[in-house]
Amino acid sequence: MTTVTTPTPTSDGIAEPWASEQTITCRDERTGLRAIIAIDDTTLGPGFGGVRYRAYPSTTAAAREAQRLAAAMTLKHALAELPYGGGKSVVMLDGEAPAPGSPQRRALFARFGEMIARTAGTYIPGVDMGTLLEDMQAIRDEGGARAFCDEVSPSPFTARGVHAAMRAAAVHHHGEGGLAGAQVVVQGVGSVGAEVARLAHADGARVTVADVDTARAEALADELGGAAIDPEQAPFHPADVFSPCAVARVVTRDNVARIPARIIAGAANDTLDEPGCAQALREAGVTFVPDFVANAGGVVQVHGGVSGWSEGETLAAVDRIGERVGELLATAQTQEITPLAAALQRASAALGRQVVA
Ligand code: NAD
Repeated sequence: MTTVTTPTPTSDGIAEPWASEQTITCRDERTGLRAIIAIDDTTLGPGFGGVRYRAYPSTTAAAREAQRLAAAMTLKHALAELPYGGGKSVVMLDGEAPAPGSPQRRALFARFGEMIARTAGTYIPGVDMGTLLEDMQAIRDEGGARAFCDEVSPSPFTARGVHAAMRAAAVHHHGEGGLAGAQVVVQGVGSVGAEVARLAHADGARVTVADVDTARAEALADELGGAAIDPEQAPFHPADVFSPCAVARVVTRDNVARIPARIIAGAANDTLDEPGCAQALREAGVTFVPDFVANAGGVVQVHGGVSGWSEGETLAAVDRIGERVGELLATAQTQEITPLAAALQRASAALGRQVVA
């Protein structure tokens, strides 16, 4: 007999009920499921986006996160020219997560899969923070929903795309030499950041790394012949390129003036504390490559996997991120706008509506 803790219902609601095309709440007493599915925009195809499994202080906070992340997926897919809309879901955790492989966990995600199946393929889930491949398999196999359960890790493809973005920005600034001799600081050397650091190093850059896991940072610094620095200071360390590959909102209105890098290109979602930071960076002479453009390599790989692309086709599609960044930076320069505004223009054209950050 297994016990299930049902998250305590909160009296608050969904703060912005019309922020997405559809916002669906899911409740199941038997498994203790409390989840929210946000389908942001299906103009370009079904809303694809991961299932996040974590604790939230309130239903409002969970709904806002699902809607915000779903909207970011709409932009990511539009810019990456993929046939998906934006979607995201959150499963609210109360207490400790059931162990991987446990019957409770399987039942929870199977039940969630049944609810996802009711969207008739309009929402396609994948792995995200707190969820595992086996959770997607439960959603698909027992829940009966379409789910992306590719066994290939997207991280190396995300890293390849970030490197292509970084390189394109360096070429835009300095010409074909690109990253050769450039000082690159990578904040967060996990599955994406470590590979970004290696690719930049192989491209001739001098690489400095930072991670709260200092042993990890030091080992990589040794491997690449660079230095490991305090992670909190990473954005302010002398550099040509700053690559945030850890946490969100590292660039704020208050710290823009302290960032010495001329290029910011990384994997971390929501690098800017708020969209207005893009203009502040432009005024400070910093080229910010929007995160949803730079970090699309993973979704490109997932799409290549389900579409039966060869490895060469997938890698070429990931490398196209670099070309796209070059085009966006040229547009931004000509129109005297931020690269973020240029990316939003492109998304607006693809979606047939005015998109704002
Ligand atoms: P990861 O968990 O493998 O690595 C994150 C690393 O950052 C870890 O080494 C961790 O110790 C470190 N870290 C945490 N807080 C830090 C801090 N304050 N300062 C410095 N280092 C810190 O995650 P990942 O898969 O490499 O993803 C990195 C970022 O890229 C995340 O924001 C993620 O949402 C985003 N992203 C990842 C992918 C992907 O394919 N993995 C795709 C798109 C976006």
